[in-house]
Amino acid sequence: MVQPPVLGMVGAGQLARMTHQAAISLGLSLRVLAASDGDSAALVAAEVEFGDHRSLPDLVGFAERCDVVTFDHEHVPPEHVRALVDKGCTVRPGPDALRYAQDKLAMRARLAELRLPQPAWRSVTSYDDVARFAAETGWPVVVKAVRGGYDGKGVWFLAAGDRLPPVECIVEERVRLRRELAVLVARRPSGEVRAWPVVETVQRSGICVETVAPATDAPADAVVLAETIAVELDVTGVLAVELFERDDGGLAVNELAMRPHNSGHWTIEGARTSQFEQHVRAVLDWPLGDAAPTATYAVTANLLGGADPNLAGRLSAALDADPALRVHVYGKEPRPGRKLGHVTALGDDLVTVRSRARAGAAVLTGEPQPTEEPQPTGEPQPTEEPA
Ligand code: ADP
Repeated sequence: MVQPPVLGMVGAGQLARMTHQAAISLGLSLRVLAASDGDSAALVAAEVEFGDHRSLPDLVGFAERCDVVTFDHEHVPPEHVRALVDKGCTVRPGPDALRYAQDKLAMRARLAELRLPQPAWRSVTSYDDVARFAAETGWPVVVKAVRGGYDGKGVWFLAAGDRLPPVECIVEERVRLRRELAVLVARRPSGEVRAWPVVETVQRSGICVETVAPATDAPADAVVLAETIAVELDVTGVLAVELFERDDGGLAVNELAMRPHNSGHWTIEGARTSQFEQHVRAVLDWPLGDAAPTATYAVTANLLGGADPNLAGRLSAALDADPALRVHVYGKEPRPGRKLGHVTALGDDLVTVRSRARAGAAVLTGEPQPTEEPQPTGEPQPTEEPA
């Protein structure tokens, strides 16, 4: 009898939980490397190992019991990813691709080599470097930690005279945004590539709060840009390309993620193949699924913990209010500001679909859904564990 391959995911957050859910339909059970028994995927996967993603012995022990290893976050040290490959483990995406999702300086330099559109940027080591750059682009500028950022942590809008954070940084022009977009593509090692439609992502304080699929009047070149990056960087699995659409309509790459991504949660119900199933297929080098949409519009609203972050008591009311709303709760310890779940609404009329998703999120979080999206700003903050 042919045994299904053992697919392991380092990290056991909500992305691993939803990947496990998709893997089940294909007859697989995702094996996860979890930090603790309360991790979102550790609560549901049958094969859970506990360990530290920063520990090479923990990673090696885990990988030796898997046929293919993939990731639910970017925080595994690059030298450990390489060491796994040197020991003969199959790691997808591989270290040569993954570094561009882990290191913003490497990513910017590679995109420049490829002559792909991105914000003006520079590597900086001092306030004087930043000031020289700002003399060309204007203040404020956007300073970013080269490694370890997520959800807006590691991103600072700096005005003249502000202190430079005490970490390795790059600086970018502050792009005047019409909106933020994302393109997800999947690529398997033997080369097949499939893309989902371009989505608009709405960010608040550096956190994605809503996605609209497809983005209205999406720029025609966005999908080709994402596919080019997937091929040139030899990405395997799902690649998320976060984009800025400038005020003048031009595109600029913000950052890359090489795993299922928040901007693709809508694909669970809104596309024939979800990003989670596609990631499984792609990293196993199986034929990819059809990425065509199943509805005219799909809007996903994230459930961020509010003042009373316990969703459970409000679940029944949300299900009652909109029986067609799709609700996903991640089983995480409720905390204010934490991503605790998401809801997706599908339909033909964007205004209605968007207001249904927002209404569902408002009921579940107990918070009104704000309409304005302030930019992240302020003093450098320490990097914390992923929300
Ligand atoms: P993270 O790695 O934490 O996701 P991002 O690089 O995506 O950080 O930045 C978080 C948010 O900050 C973006 O979604 C965008 O709203 C804003 N931002 C980042 N870089 C720029 C820039 N160069 N110009 C304008 N806004 C930016």
